[in-house]
Amino acid sequence: MDELGGQSATLVAEPPSTTFRDKYYSTIRDEDWNSWYWQLRHRWTEGLSRVIQLTDDESNAMDALRTSGRIAASITPYYLSLISPTDPDQPLRRTVIPTMAELNISYGESSDPLHEDIDSPVPGVVHRYNDRALMLLSDQCASYCRYCTRSRLVGAKKSSPCRDPEKYNAAFDYIRNNENIRDVIISGGDPLLLDDGYLERILYRLRGIPHVEIIRIGTKAPVTLPQRITPDLCEMLRKYHPLFISIHFTHPDECTPECTKACEMLADAGIPLGSQTVLLAGINDNIETMASLMHKLLMMRVRPYYLYQCDPIAGTAHFRTPVSKGIEIIDGLRGHTSGYAVPTFVIDAPGGGGKIPLQRNYVVSCGDGQTTLMNFRGEICHYP
Ligand SMILES: *Cc1c(COP(=O)(O)O)cnc(C)c1O
Repeated sequence: MDELGGQSATLVAEPPSTTFRDKYYSTIRDEDWNSWYWQLRHRWTEGLSRVIQLTDDESNAMDALRTSGRIAASITPYYLSLISPTDPDQPLRRTVIPTMAELNISYGESSDPLHEDIDSPVPGVVHRYNDRALMLLSDQCASYCRYCTRSRLVGAKKSSPCRDPEKYNAAFDYIRNNENIRDVIISGGDPLLLDDGYLERILYRLRGIPHVEIIRIGTKAPVTLPQRITPDLCEMLRKYHPLFISIHFTHPDECTPECTKACEMLADAGIPLGSQTVLLAGINDNIETMASLMHKLLMMRVRPYYLYQCDPIAGTAHFRTPVSKGIEIIDGLRGHTSGYAVPTFVIDAPGGGGKIPLQRNYVVSCGDGQTTLMNFRGEICHYP
């Protein structure tokens, strides 16, 4: 990248106090580093070997991506600063740096296992539940997750179904004409990659539809691009209450001071914040990591919402855990920590069946005037 200023980034052992920014962006002014436009403009899509000791496998995958149809790599300088330059198994590194395993398509995988395209009455809308609709309004993210559920729609070179104004109007008409829809989820891609003016036009139009009671935004911007959460954005968003935001978190390492500040600003704007996390093998698939993430989220005023079994997206088998792992993690949280720290573990059913919650069975027997239950310690309890 040009701001490296010809510095040939050979990796040398460095004192632990040298941060990524000190090392590679020491000449960049705070106002640039803290600008979301600057962060987006300087995303890393190639040349990563200058700042990360790529393994042969990662490096081959970067090359293979150019022709494979898999989602291209793209990482903001901020998010890259959280990534280990030396450890290919570091959780955050695995979520954004491609590996050759992505090119293996396993049994049951496809590009749209949840049949979102089939459940799409007009471009840019997925309507699966009677009273809720999902609008896919952005085809871009700040950084691309290697396990992305919407990799078929998003990426630097793709074009959103709603970019075309005609189709965009059709999406609003659809919601306006369906009085059952009381909850609209704006997602993508990442809707917070749209600029304030564009996003406000969307919110304004939705608020003009009387039966739309609540609006939700799904985003990872507070995590990968916390600079996006500006006072102007918060001022704008607070005009469209009741507005909720679901933030995609993966690992406790994402809970930095920058991310904390972004969440606090949104919470201070009166926006209830929820989290969505995908269960990922070797990344967050143990009770300790998950509890740590959930506790940090509560400290950031984010209420854990969903933990997802990893969808069978083509090329993601290396990220998938057995379903029993998610049940075990929830079992390790429920009763053992704040109830607020326990998300609902769900499988978004292939074929468009919707989200199905999973937990171990607490009911031993039920009926004939007595219910027998098992509590979080495994003790039998009776309810008369
Ligand atoms: C997840 C999802 C929703 C929202 O589901 P909630 O359980 O209400 O959060 C709505 N539409 C689609 C298509 C979804 O995938």
